[in-house]
Amino acid sequence: MGRSPLPRSIGELTFPEISRKLKTSSILCLPIGAIEQHGAHLPLNTDVVVAEEVTRTLIARLGDAFDLWQLPTLAISLSREHDWAPGTLSLSVQGFATLLKETAREIVRALPARNLVIVNGHGGNRGILENLLHELHGDLALNACVIHPFDLAKLPSDGAGADVHGGAGETSVMLALAPELVRTDMIASTPPPSPESVAALIFDRGVTWPWRTDDPRLARAGVIGDPAAASAEQGRAMVERMVEAARGVFARLLEHQSLMGKGR
Ligand SMILES: [Zn+2]
Repeated sequence: MGRSPLPRSIGELTFPEISRKLKTSSILCLPIGAIEQHGAHLPLNTDVVVAEEVTRTLIARLGDAFDLWQLPTLAISLSREHDWAPGTLSLSVQGFATLLKETAREIVRALPARNLVIVNGHGGNRGILENLLHELHGDLALNACVIHPFDLAKLPSDGAGADVHGGAGETSVMLALAPELVRTDMIASTPPPSPESVAALIFDRGVTWPWRTDDPRLARAGVIGDPAAASAEQGRAMVERMVEAARGVFARLLEHQSLMGKGR
């Protein structure tokens, strides 16, 4: 029994196909996930599934228009805030920076494409990716950006409830993309943490804390949010908003490439 090939997957091409099919203007999409606890109702690889499936959806919808190609996923990243939970695997900051930079260096050496979109499935990677982006651009001349799918899907009114980890947003997207992996019987209807503690410990722009998901002020059984408010319908709407917003991102990235080209 075989499986059908994935469309536009770098790993499923042969070596002669690489030079034949990819161009300088092709856009490589690199999903970055995480292996970390997501409460009792979502699997450890939730962020891997989200990053990969969102990338696959982007390629199915926009792949031909923007010449998108999917790179193999980096599955393990920065998850120290969840390291109290069995199964959570985390790299060090140094290890992750090395992994990403070596991967990017190999991309430049081995592939003709010079555009890179990182699809970041794990919010905890945001800070380091924002900084590494400068090195990918400055040291390797990659025309690159990072997509944070959940923030890309946010509605202007979304700021109200605390929905940070394993809550309504993430559970909804999993119900839409991989329902077979959601333990619906384990979705407990527990009230989300107070918006004040989330605002003070996680989102305060004036001070940064080493917040953790075993902090009783923030999380219940590893979850910061309310998974009982999740639905597949809401998840599908979020994925739809991600795709629409990503269309503009790809267009802007190509615009940057033509500007970079003129500067040389
Ligand atoms: Zn997650």
